[in-house]
Amino acid sequence: MIPVNEPLLNGNEKKYLCECIDTGWIGSDGPFVRKFEEEMAKYVGRKYAVAVTNGTSALEMAVVALGIGEGDEVIMPTFTIISCAQAVVKVGGKPVLVDCEYDTFNMKVKDIESKITQKTRAIMLVHIYGLPVDVDPILDLARKYNLKVIEDAAEMLGQTYKGRKCGSFGDISIFSFYPNKIITTGEGGMVLMDDEELYERCKSLRNLCFSPDVDKRFIHEDIGWNLRMTNLQAAVGLAQLERIDEFIAKKRWIGNMYQELLSDIEVINLPVKKTYYAENIYWVFPIVLKDEYPKTAKEVMKELANRGVGTRPFFYPMHKQPVFNKMGLFIGESYPNAEKLYEKGFYIPSGLALTEEQIREVSRIMQEVLR
Ligand SMILES: *Cc1c(COP(=O)(O)O)cnc(C)c1O
Repeated sequence: MIPVNEPLLNGNEKKYLCECIDTGWIGSDGPFVRKFEEEMAKYVGRKYAVAVTNGTSALEMAVVALGIGEGDEVIMPTFTIISCAQAVVKVGGKPVLVDCEYDTFNMKVKDIESKITQKTRAIMLVHIYGLPVDVDPILDLARKYNLKVIEDAAEMLGQTYKGRKCGSFGDISIFSFYPNKIITTGEGGMVLMDDEELYERCKSLRNLCFSPDVDKRFIHEDIGWNLRMTNLQAAVGLAQLERIDEFIAKKRWIGNMYQELLSDIEVINLPVKKTYYAENIYWVFPIVLKDEYPKTAKEVMKELANRGVGTRPFFYPMHKQPVFNKMGLFIGESYPNAEKLYEKGFYIPSGLALTEEQIREVSRIMQEVLR
């Protein structure tokens, strides 16, 4: 079986992990955590970074740190991971959804303004699969209506928008270091910002809002979480970040290989290579079956699995999620592009450990199955 994702861990990961064990620094106070935060902030172009346990908790922290709460509306794409919507639902807020573009999978920026109400507090922009969402018009809207902006750059470390790094936009941005992301720490995430007060709030929220005053150590003014990243995770993260340029080049090489090897399959849409503001980074390599092709993505994925090719389905849109419908959210709402992409889309192996031989094998099997 060619797995849909396999990470590459053959840099300094082992060396740094041994350092943790040899020095006894395995908890969250170790030096790799600070170093990883500093290097991430520097790389992305933010002033501050707060390492946390995963991307989902990073989003929850961002929502709480910005003061979003009961009754507040946050505009976001329906075609995304549930982490985005549930972060808002968990504080009693309401996600307000926008459909996605059929070709780039990103939020339809033109549809955002009509969703703004008196209750709108923020826009959560999410970069999907390899191309950033068109950021500037969103930042313009946020300025015009005095809204906060949360940037979910979980899939897009190293990608740029008009030459500026993803993860540097809006009030607060987040990354995930799950094994299928551009760099990994096994599980892990990060919250980045330029505002010092927001930085202090996030550090406090990460650590149970312990009092900074040593005399009041166990006296709490607020409720937080324990979202501390360990030195072990940060050691792996730092080793991964050292190779970010190589990783991005490899992702693009995989993407370009597939573009070439699959270009003559008439029944599929291949991902957009570039827009006027970015070149695809191919975090994953998404395939969309054309309308005239009779089979669903599910059927094709099964045939590929039978021939040893791992795949993943596309996101199931937020407005269709039973858990939200049961809460009375998004009833009767319809976003046709996101719905259709779920039926027609899937992605194929593109992990950093993928070899040229495997890419050729996947492509050959794709040709066979879709001929
Ligand atoms: C992976 C991902 C997350 C969640 O990150 P985890 O570390 O898995 O919790 C959030 N947003 C997007 C867009 C993602 O792709």
